[in-house]
Amino acid sequence: FNVPKAVNEPVKSYAPNSPEKAAVLAAYKQMWNSKIDVPLYIGSQEIRTGNTRNMTAPHDHKHVVGTYHLAEKSHIEKAIANALEVKTKWANMAWEQRAAIFLKAAELIAGPYRARINAATMIAQSKNIFQAEIDAACEFIDFLRFNVEFMAQIYNDQPKSNSDMWNRLEYRPLEGFVYAVTPFNFTAIAGNLPASAAMMGNVVIWKPSDSQVFSAQIIIEVFKEAGVPDGVINVVFGDAVMITDTILASPDFAGIHYTGSTFVFKEIWSKIGTNIHAYKTYPRIVGETGGKDFIVAHPSANVKQVATGIVRGAFEFQGQKCSAASRAYVPQSMWGELKEQLITDVKSMKMGSPEDFGNFITAVIHEGSFDKLASFIDQAKKDSDAEIIVGGNYDKSVGYFIEPTIIVTTNPHYTTMETELFGPVMTIFVYEDAKWEETLTLVDVTSPYALTGAIFSQDRYAIEQATVALQNAAGNFYINDKPTGAVVGMQPFGGARASGTNDKAGSALNLLRWASPRTIKETF
Ligand code: GLU
Repeated sequence: FNVPKAVNEPVKSYAPNSPEKAAVLAAYKQMWNSKIDVPLYIGSQEIRTGNTRNMTAPHDHKHVVGTYHLAEKSHIEKAIANALEVKTKWANMAWEQRAAIFLKAAELIAGPYRARINAATMIAQSKNIFQAEIDAACEFIDFLRFNVEFMAQIYNDQPKSNSDMWNRLEYRPLEGFVYAVTPFNFTAIAGNLPASAAMMGNVVIWKPSDSQVFSAQIIIEVFKEAGVPDGVINVVFGDAVMITDTILASPDFAGIHYTGSTFVFKEIWSKIGTNIHAYKTYPRIVGETGGKDFIVAHPSANVKQVATGIVRGAFEFQGQKCSAASRAYVPQSMWGELKEQLITDVKSMKMGSPEDFGNFITAVIHEGSFDKLASFIDQAKKDSDAEIIVGGNYDKSVGYFIEPTIIVTTNPHYTTMETELFGPVMTIFVYEDAKWEETLTLVDVTSPYALTGAIFSQDRYAIEQATVALQNAAGNFYINDKPTGAVVGMQPFGGARASGTNDKAGSALNLLRWASPRTIKETF
């Protein structure tokens, strides 16, 4: 099949005086006061229910950037009906036409929408420009381009035939509709979860996170301009439980594409189980959930590399990545030097509004997250088996700011070694060098999650040992690098155990979940 060869979108530098910096700041200023009012998008209609909520920026939470409308049950039912109405037409469209729509979406983001989607992500999710660029621009573009290539590969994957017998696989979309539930932390994931299912010929009901609506509305604009027909991706906001329950009650519910908390995913899974007799088809359940991602350093590791891995892995985007490093195991022999390096590195990171490109750290997403993080920090200040070596201050008077904080504990099972915090708090356990092998076991058994992890070592035997011992401890395993920042087409992303169904985002494996192939055998 002839599709454009997917290439990763180059990351722009946003250097002082660069045109991209001027463009994104202009977009930021314009959007900051835009007071946009975001409706539900159901079929061809934009519905304003009048029941609204404010959108605010986490780094300046009193400033209202706009409002969005909340759905009632009847709107969800209407969205399902509209999706099903256009389903046959969309499913029967030649796949090249669907591919062209999403390739066009990628080019719209790469060009005319880049500044706005980045600025919206800086405002809605308080990403600094570099974190916005690798997410809302590059990763989103890459998902669209690579998934089109994977789609072509899938359709091209056909069984053997003989001269008197022709076997075909017809990659039908699922029979029904797909529900996409997306998180606040990646604009790219928000766009990819509905897009990947839709690309494969499915119709979708998409519920973005309440904390991401401001950037979600740019995704909606992009999809519309790229030519996604009305009703193919319906967008609803509002009470998550009501929306999910209404969707899961439909006999046409055919699958869920989810990224979010483990707790909610398990709730959804058990509701699907309860409703199983009502469905026409076994629903596909695809989810990426929590993480308690590790860094383990061997005594042979390069200290500066370990420090950079910890600081970047733990504190990029305030630690609010599922992949963020949040527990580290470092050897006693390295600790003195590493500790000094970590303190120096963390102290050099500036914190404040993303509008100032010098700020590496900005605010955490909302008050609930701020309060939770602050309480763990306060507890660490009191506990005798924990010590904060850097950070530990917080302030929510203007925005939800938490200093990047490193806790060192003498207890490998200390609460913050085990609990997913989703914020800029890293906990370190210093192990005795002679206990390297026991430490690998500890890394494996300490957490129910298995999303990402990293080993730092210059010793190939140790690397091999860790690779084997931690085989099931991470779906994305990094050697001498931080465990965040997977690139589409290079490191397919996802984890198992309590971290998800591991249907790697940005891979043919994932796209296949949105197809229900029919085998056709014809004899001559
Ligand atoms: N893919 C992202 C990374 O590698 C993380 C995605 C997530 O947080 O859900 O950092």
